[in-house]
Amino acid sequence: MADQRTASCRFCGRAPAPGEHRVPGPDGPICASCIAAGLKLVHDGQARPSRGETVLVRVTSRDDEACEFCERRERYTFLGFRRSLARMKCPELGAVICADCLDHGGDLINKAYRH
Ligand SMILES: [Zn+2]
Ligand SMILES: [Zn+2]
Repeated sequence: MADQRTASCRFCGRAPAPGEHRVPGPDGPICASCIAAGLKLVHDGQARPSRGETVLVRVTSRDDEACEFCERRERYTFLGFRRSLARMKCPELGAVICADCLDHGGDLINKAYRH
């Protein structure tokens, strides 16, 4: 497992700034600016550059990679139906995170900065 404190962000490849809060993941952390970009991207579907100048794109198909944070490709509803689960992907760094993990990560970052 990558050292979460010093590893570069999975999506933009940037090293952490002093005092910067990031969300740890199984393959490495995601930074706040990539979470913010991801939350917009999963809604509007627009590919955009990260702060590290990698390209971030949206994937929604079951055939694309699973979220590396929760290992899901789709949502299951209460009745067992499958729903597509939008994910942000950085093809260059091979990183993927889903809309749910982005929401959760955003909450964690918000809490961290409130203390
Ligand atoms: Zn980042
Ligand atoms: Zn996820």
